[in-house]
Amino acid sequence: MAAQKRTHSDTVRPGLDLERDLMMRAINVAGDVILVYRVDPSDGDLRVAYMNDAYTRQTGYSRDEAIGRPVKFFRQNMPDDQGMREVRAALAAGRPLHVQIVSYRKDGTSFWNDVTLYPVADDDQHITHWISVERDVTTLVEYEAAMEDEHRRLFSLTQTARSLFASLDSRSLIDTFRKSAEEILHARIEVYGISSDGRGRAIDDFDALDDAKTIVDPLIEHALRTRGHVVDDRHVRAAVAAGKHGSTSYAVVVQARNGRQLRETDLFALDLLAEYFSVAAHNVSLYRELEVRRSVVLELNQTKTDLIAMLAHDFRTPLTSIVGFADLVGEVGDVNDDQREFIATIKRTALQLNELAVDTLTLSRLERNEVSLQRETVDLAVLVRDLAYDFADRSVLDISVNGDATVIGDVPRLRQVFYNLVENGIKYSPGSTAVSVEIDGQTDHVVVRVQDRGIGIPAGDLQRIFERFQRGSNARKLGIGGTGFGLFLSKQLVALHGGTIEVESREGKGSTFTVTLPRRVTGRGDVALIALLDPVSDANSVLAHSLRDAGYRVSVAVDAAELLAMIEDLAHDAIVINVDPSALSTQNVGRLRALRAEHNVPLIVLTNEDSRRLVPSAVIERPVLIGDLVAALASLVVPHTATGS
Ligand code: ADP
Repeated sequence: MAAQKRTHSDTVRPGLDLERDLMMRAINVAGDVILVYRVDPSDGDLRVAYMNDAYTRQTGYSRDEAIGRPVKFFRQNMPDDQGMREVRAALAAGRPLHVQIVSYRKDGTSFWNDVTLYPVADDDQHITHWISVERDVTTLVEYEAAMEDEHRRLFSLTQTARSLFASLDSRSLIDTFRKSAEEILHARIEVYGISSDGRGRAIDDFDALDDAKTIVDPLIEHALRTRGHVVDDRHVRAAVAAGKHGSTSYAVVVQARNGRQLRETDLFALDLLAEYFSVAAHNVSLYRELEVRRSVVLELNQTKTDLIAMLAHDFRTPLTSIVGFADLVGEVGDVNDDQREFIATIKRTALQLNELAVDTLTLSRLERNEVSLQRETVDLAVLVRDLAYDFADRSVLDISVNGDATVIGDVPRLRQVFYNLVENGIKYSPGSTAVSVEIDGQTDHVVVRVQDRGIGIPAGDLQRIFERFQRGSNARKLGIGGTGFGLFLSKQLVALHGGTIEVESREGKGSTFTVTLPRRVTGRGDVALIALLDPVSDANSVLAHSLRDAGYRVSVAVDAAELLAMIEDLAHDAIVINVDPSALSTQNVGRLRALRAEHNVPLIVLTNEDSRRLVPSAVIERPVLIGDLVAALASLVVPHTATGS
């Protein structure tokens, strides 16, 4: 037992040799490379003192070949890269390091090596050895690089989508598409248009394929038939269907450069690009159609406005004759009382017709954005007393004035407003009770109340009474004539003066219209006014149209001089410049800055250039998405409170 015991204790004695032997085995079966370098005291070089088996598996060097060799032997005179520089720095400083470097196998091929270095020091703190634990991480590094590549590509794809969807004409769409797709796919890109009878060619815009020849390209044909992508045998050329608009089908053809092959991810991006193209092409076609229709509507609208303006204008000459001759009748011979009354009626209705003509003319000018105010000092008390004469034969105006009644405004326009209100007061008070006008001058504004005790406005109609062509149901029932645009017009004109108009009314009791006018014209109505510099603008200016759609009033200038004159003339709520800053002269930039400082107006510049010298409040890069512009305006322009209705 004792002998057995002894024998047993001899073989399993946990001596140092056995422990070392076990450790060595473990180290040799480990997947990671473990190397020990000895620092050569003679030259400071690191020489391989120990390596495990994994090193041979990873690099092809046997122990005989590696042991005793300096580090540079394994780098085959390759220059230091960033990783090796870090290694050298760590070695020099004697501190541990974890780094990824490029290493080389015996056959000269390279791999990404994940290296952890630890120094080993003797009792005197001299580093005698370095332990290096290494792992081939090529697959991981390549995977990460590929992921990063894909990420970049997805990002570019998003950017591309943005530019494509902002394209409004086919030439810029195809141009943008080709440039972006070539960048994303590192390949040559062509867009093909193919008509339903099989004729087609590479295109720059959507215009007719009349002179195109029958297309003989199996790849394109196949792609159109299957409505997907098709790749050739060598994986260097691919075609994908990119939508159909009208009778034309579109295909995108990609040709890899420099013998590169198209990979699966390229085809994925290609599919996405083709999809974008199809949607953007649809937008362009719709936009074209819209443009045509809009031109027709604009033309019709113009004709209507011209016609109204012409009629209103030409109405007034004969009306003046009627009024003039009606006055003369009494002077050239005797007229009896009946005749006098008839003549007075002729004169009155002619004058009414004249006011209507004036209103119509103003309305058509307002619609064309042509109304600008001729500013001067106006005493509203004088203006209203003057009006009273016009109505002398119909009603007595009870006028009271309190305080200073002067404002800065446009006399004929303000006259129109109060003429309409007084005339309504009389017209809608059939019992002919007096209309009162109360003028109340406050510090910074003047309030004018026009009050009657007439038929009033039914509660249900009050809400919309300032809208165009709206009439009260009671007025219509009673057969009192009217057009329903006097109040609409008055509201617009008051708004042009920066004022408000409100009504209080009870059916059967009477109405009070209250006009509040600031002493100074701010030029701002209750809708923000944008000054737009758009040199490509015409009646069809996309920007102007879109801004109006978004609820702004827009005055358009086609050059800087016109813009400056506009801003000088009338206070605007914001300036939008669709011109590159480099196209503006230093003088104009100076003027613009001075005017902005004076009026405190925000400026939005649409450009990809450096626009700092314009000191913009916001910059929007081209291609401009209207949504972005509207959002920028909304954040910069303080909305005016809509009043008066
Ligand atoms: P018009 O008088 O030509 O119809 P307006 O735009 O001036 O057009 O007025 C719109 C409508 O408002 C009138 O048709 C009438 O129904 C109502 N209205 C305007 N003023 C008065 C008033 N003072 N009293 C009662 N109703 C009025």
